[in-house]
Amino acid sequence: MTNPAQSPAHIPDEWLLDHAAGTTPEPVAVLVEAHLALSAPARATYARLASVGGVLLEQQNPAELAPDALARLMAHIDANPAPSRVAAPAAAAGLLPASLSAYTGPSIEDLAWRRIVRGVEQATLKLGGPSPYELSLLRIAAGKSIPQHTHEGDELLLVLAGSFEDGRAGYARGDVCAADASVDHAPVADRATDCLCLHVANAPIKLTGPFGRLLNPLLKLARR
Ligand code: ZN
Repeated sequence: MTNPAQSPAHIPDEWLLDHAAGTTPEPVAVLVEAHLALSAPARATYARLASVGGVLLEQQNPAELAPDALARLMAHIDANPAPSRVAAPAAAAGLLPASLSAYTGPSIEDLAWRRIVRGVEQATLKLGGPSPYELSLLRIAAGKSIPQHTHEGDELLLVLAGSFEDGRAGYARGDVCAADASVDHAPVADRATDCLCLHVANAPIKLTGPFGRLLNPLLKLARR
């Protein structure tokens, strides 16, 4: 379902469709809302998908959808009939989208940051209820990297500040890096600036570099 013309730095369409249908778990919804607040191309894609969402939904396996998914999607389309009605960022000028502040509190420095590897810190954000996904902030110091790894589930990284590249693409503020078991990468922050990301994952990462394999049992990234 992913649009091949879409930049790899944007979230795959299926995540936006699920969000329009109201079926995304809380942590994913938080990331998608923040992505839409920061990225005009994402808002345009979301509007396009919502306008044709009914047709796309009919092509999906009904068993995969929540019973009220179509009703919720149609209600969403009724409420958002044109791209101009898609919510524009209210606080995009600040570092964090307004929708994130309920999860981060007034200062991210007050969060419980823990070191993952040298130059990489993570702070888990409290959710409203239990979820298979974890929501966290991830800070990669300028020029540092997350060790080479693959994934046992889904991972979404939304850049809030700075930038990084992972060998597949470059990701700047508002961009999303989506990865799963088919992706083996090592995100590297730009040399000039620390990179702050919103991180969503539903399984631990699996290190694949020569030294990283030895550290797998110790690594806690993506899961508490
Ligand atoms: Zn990854």
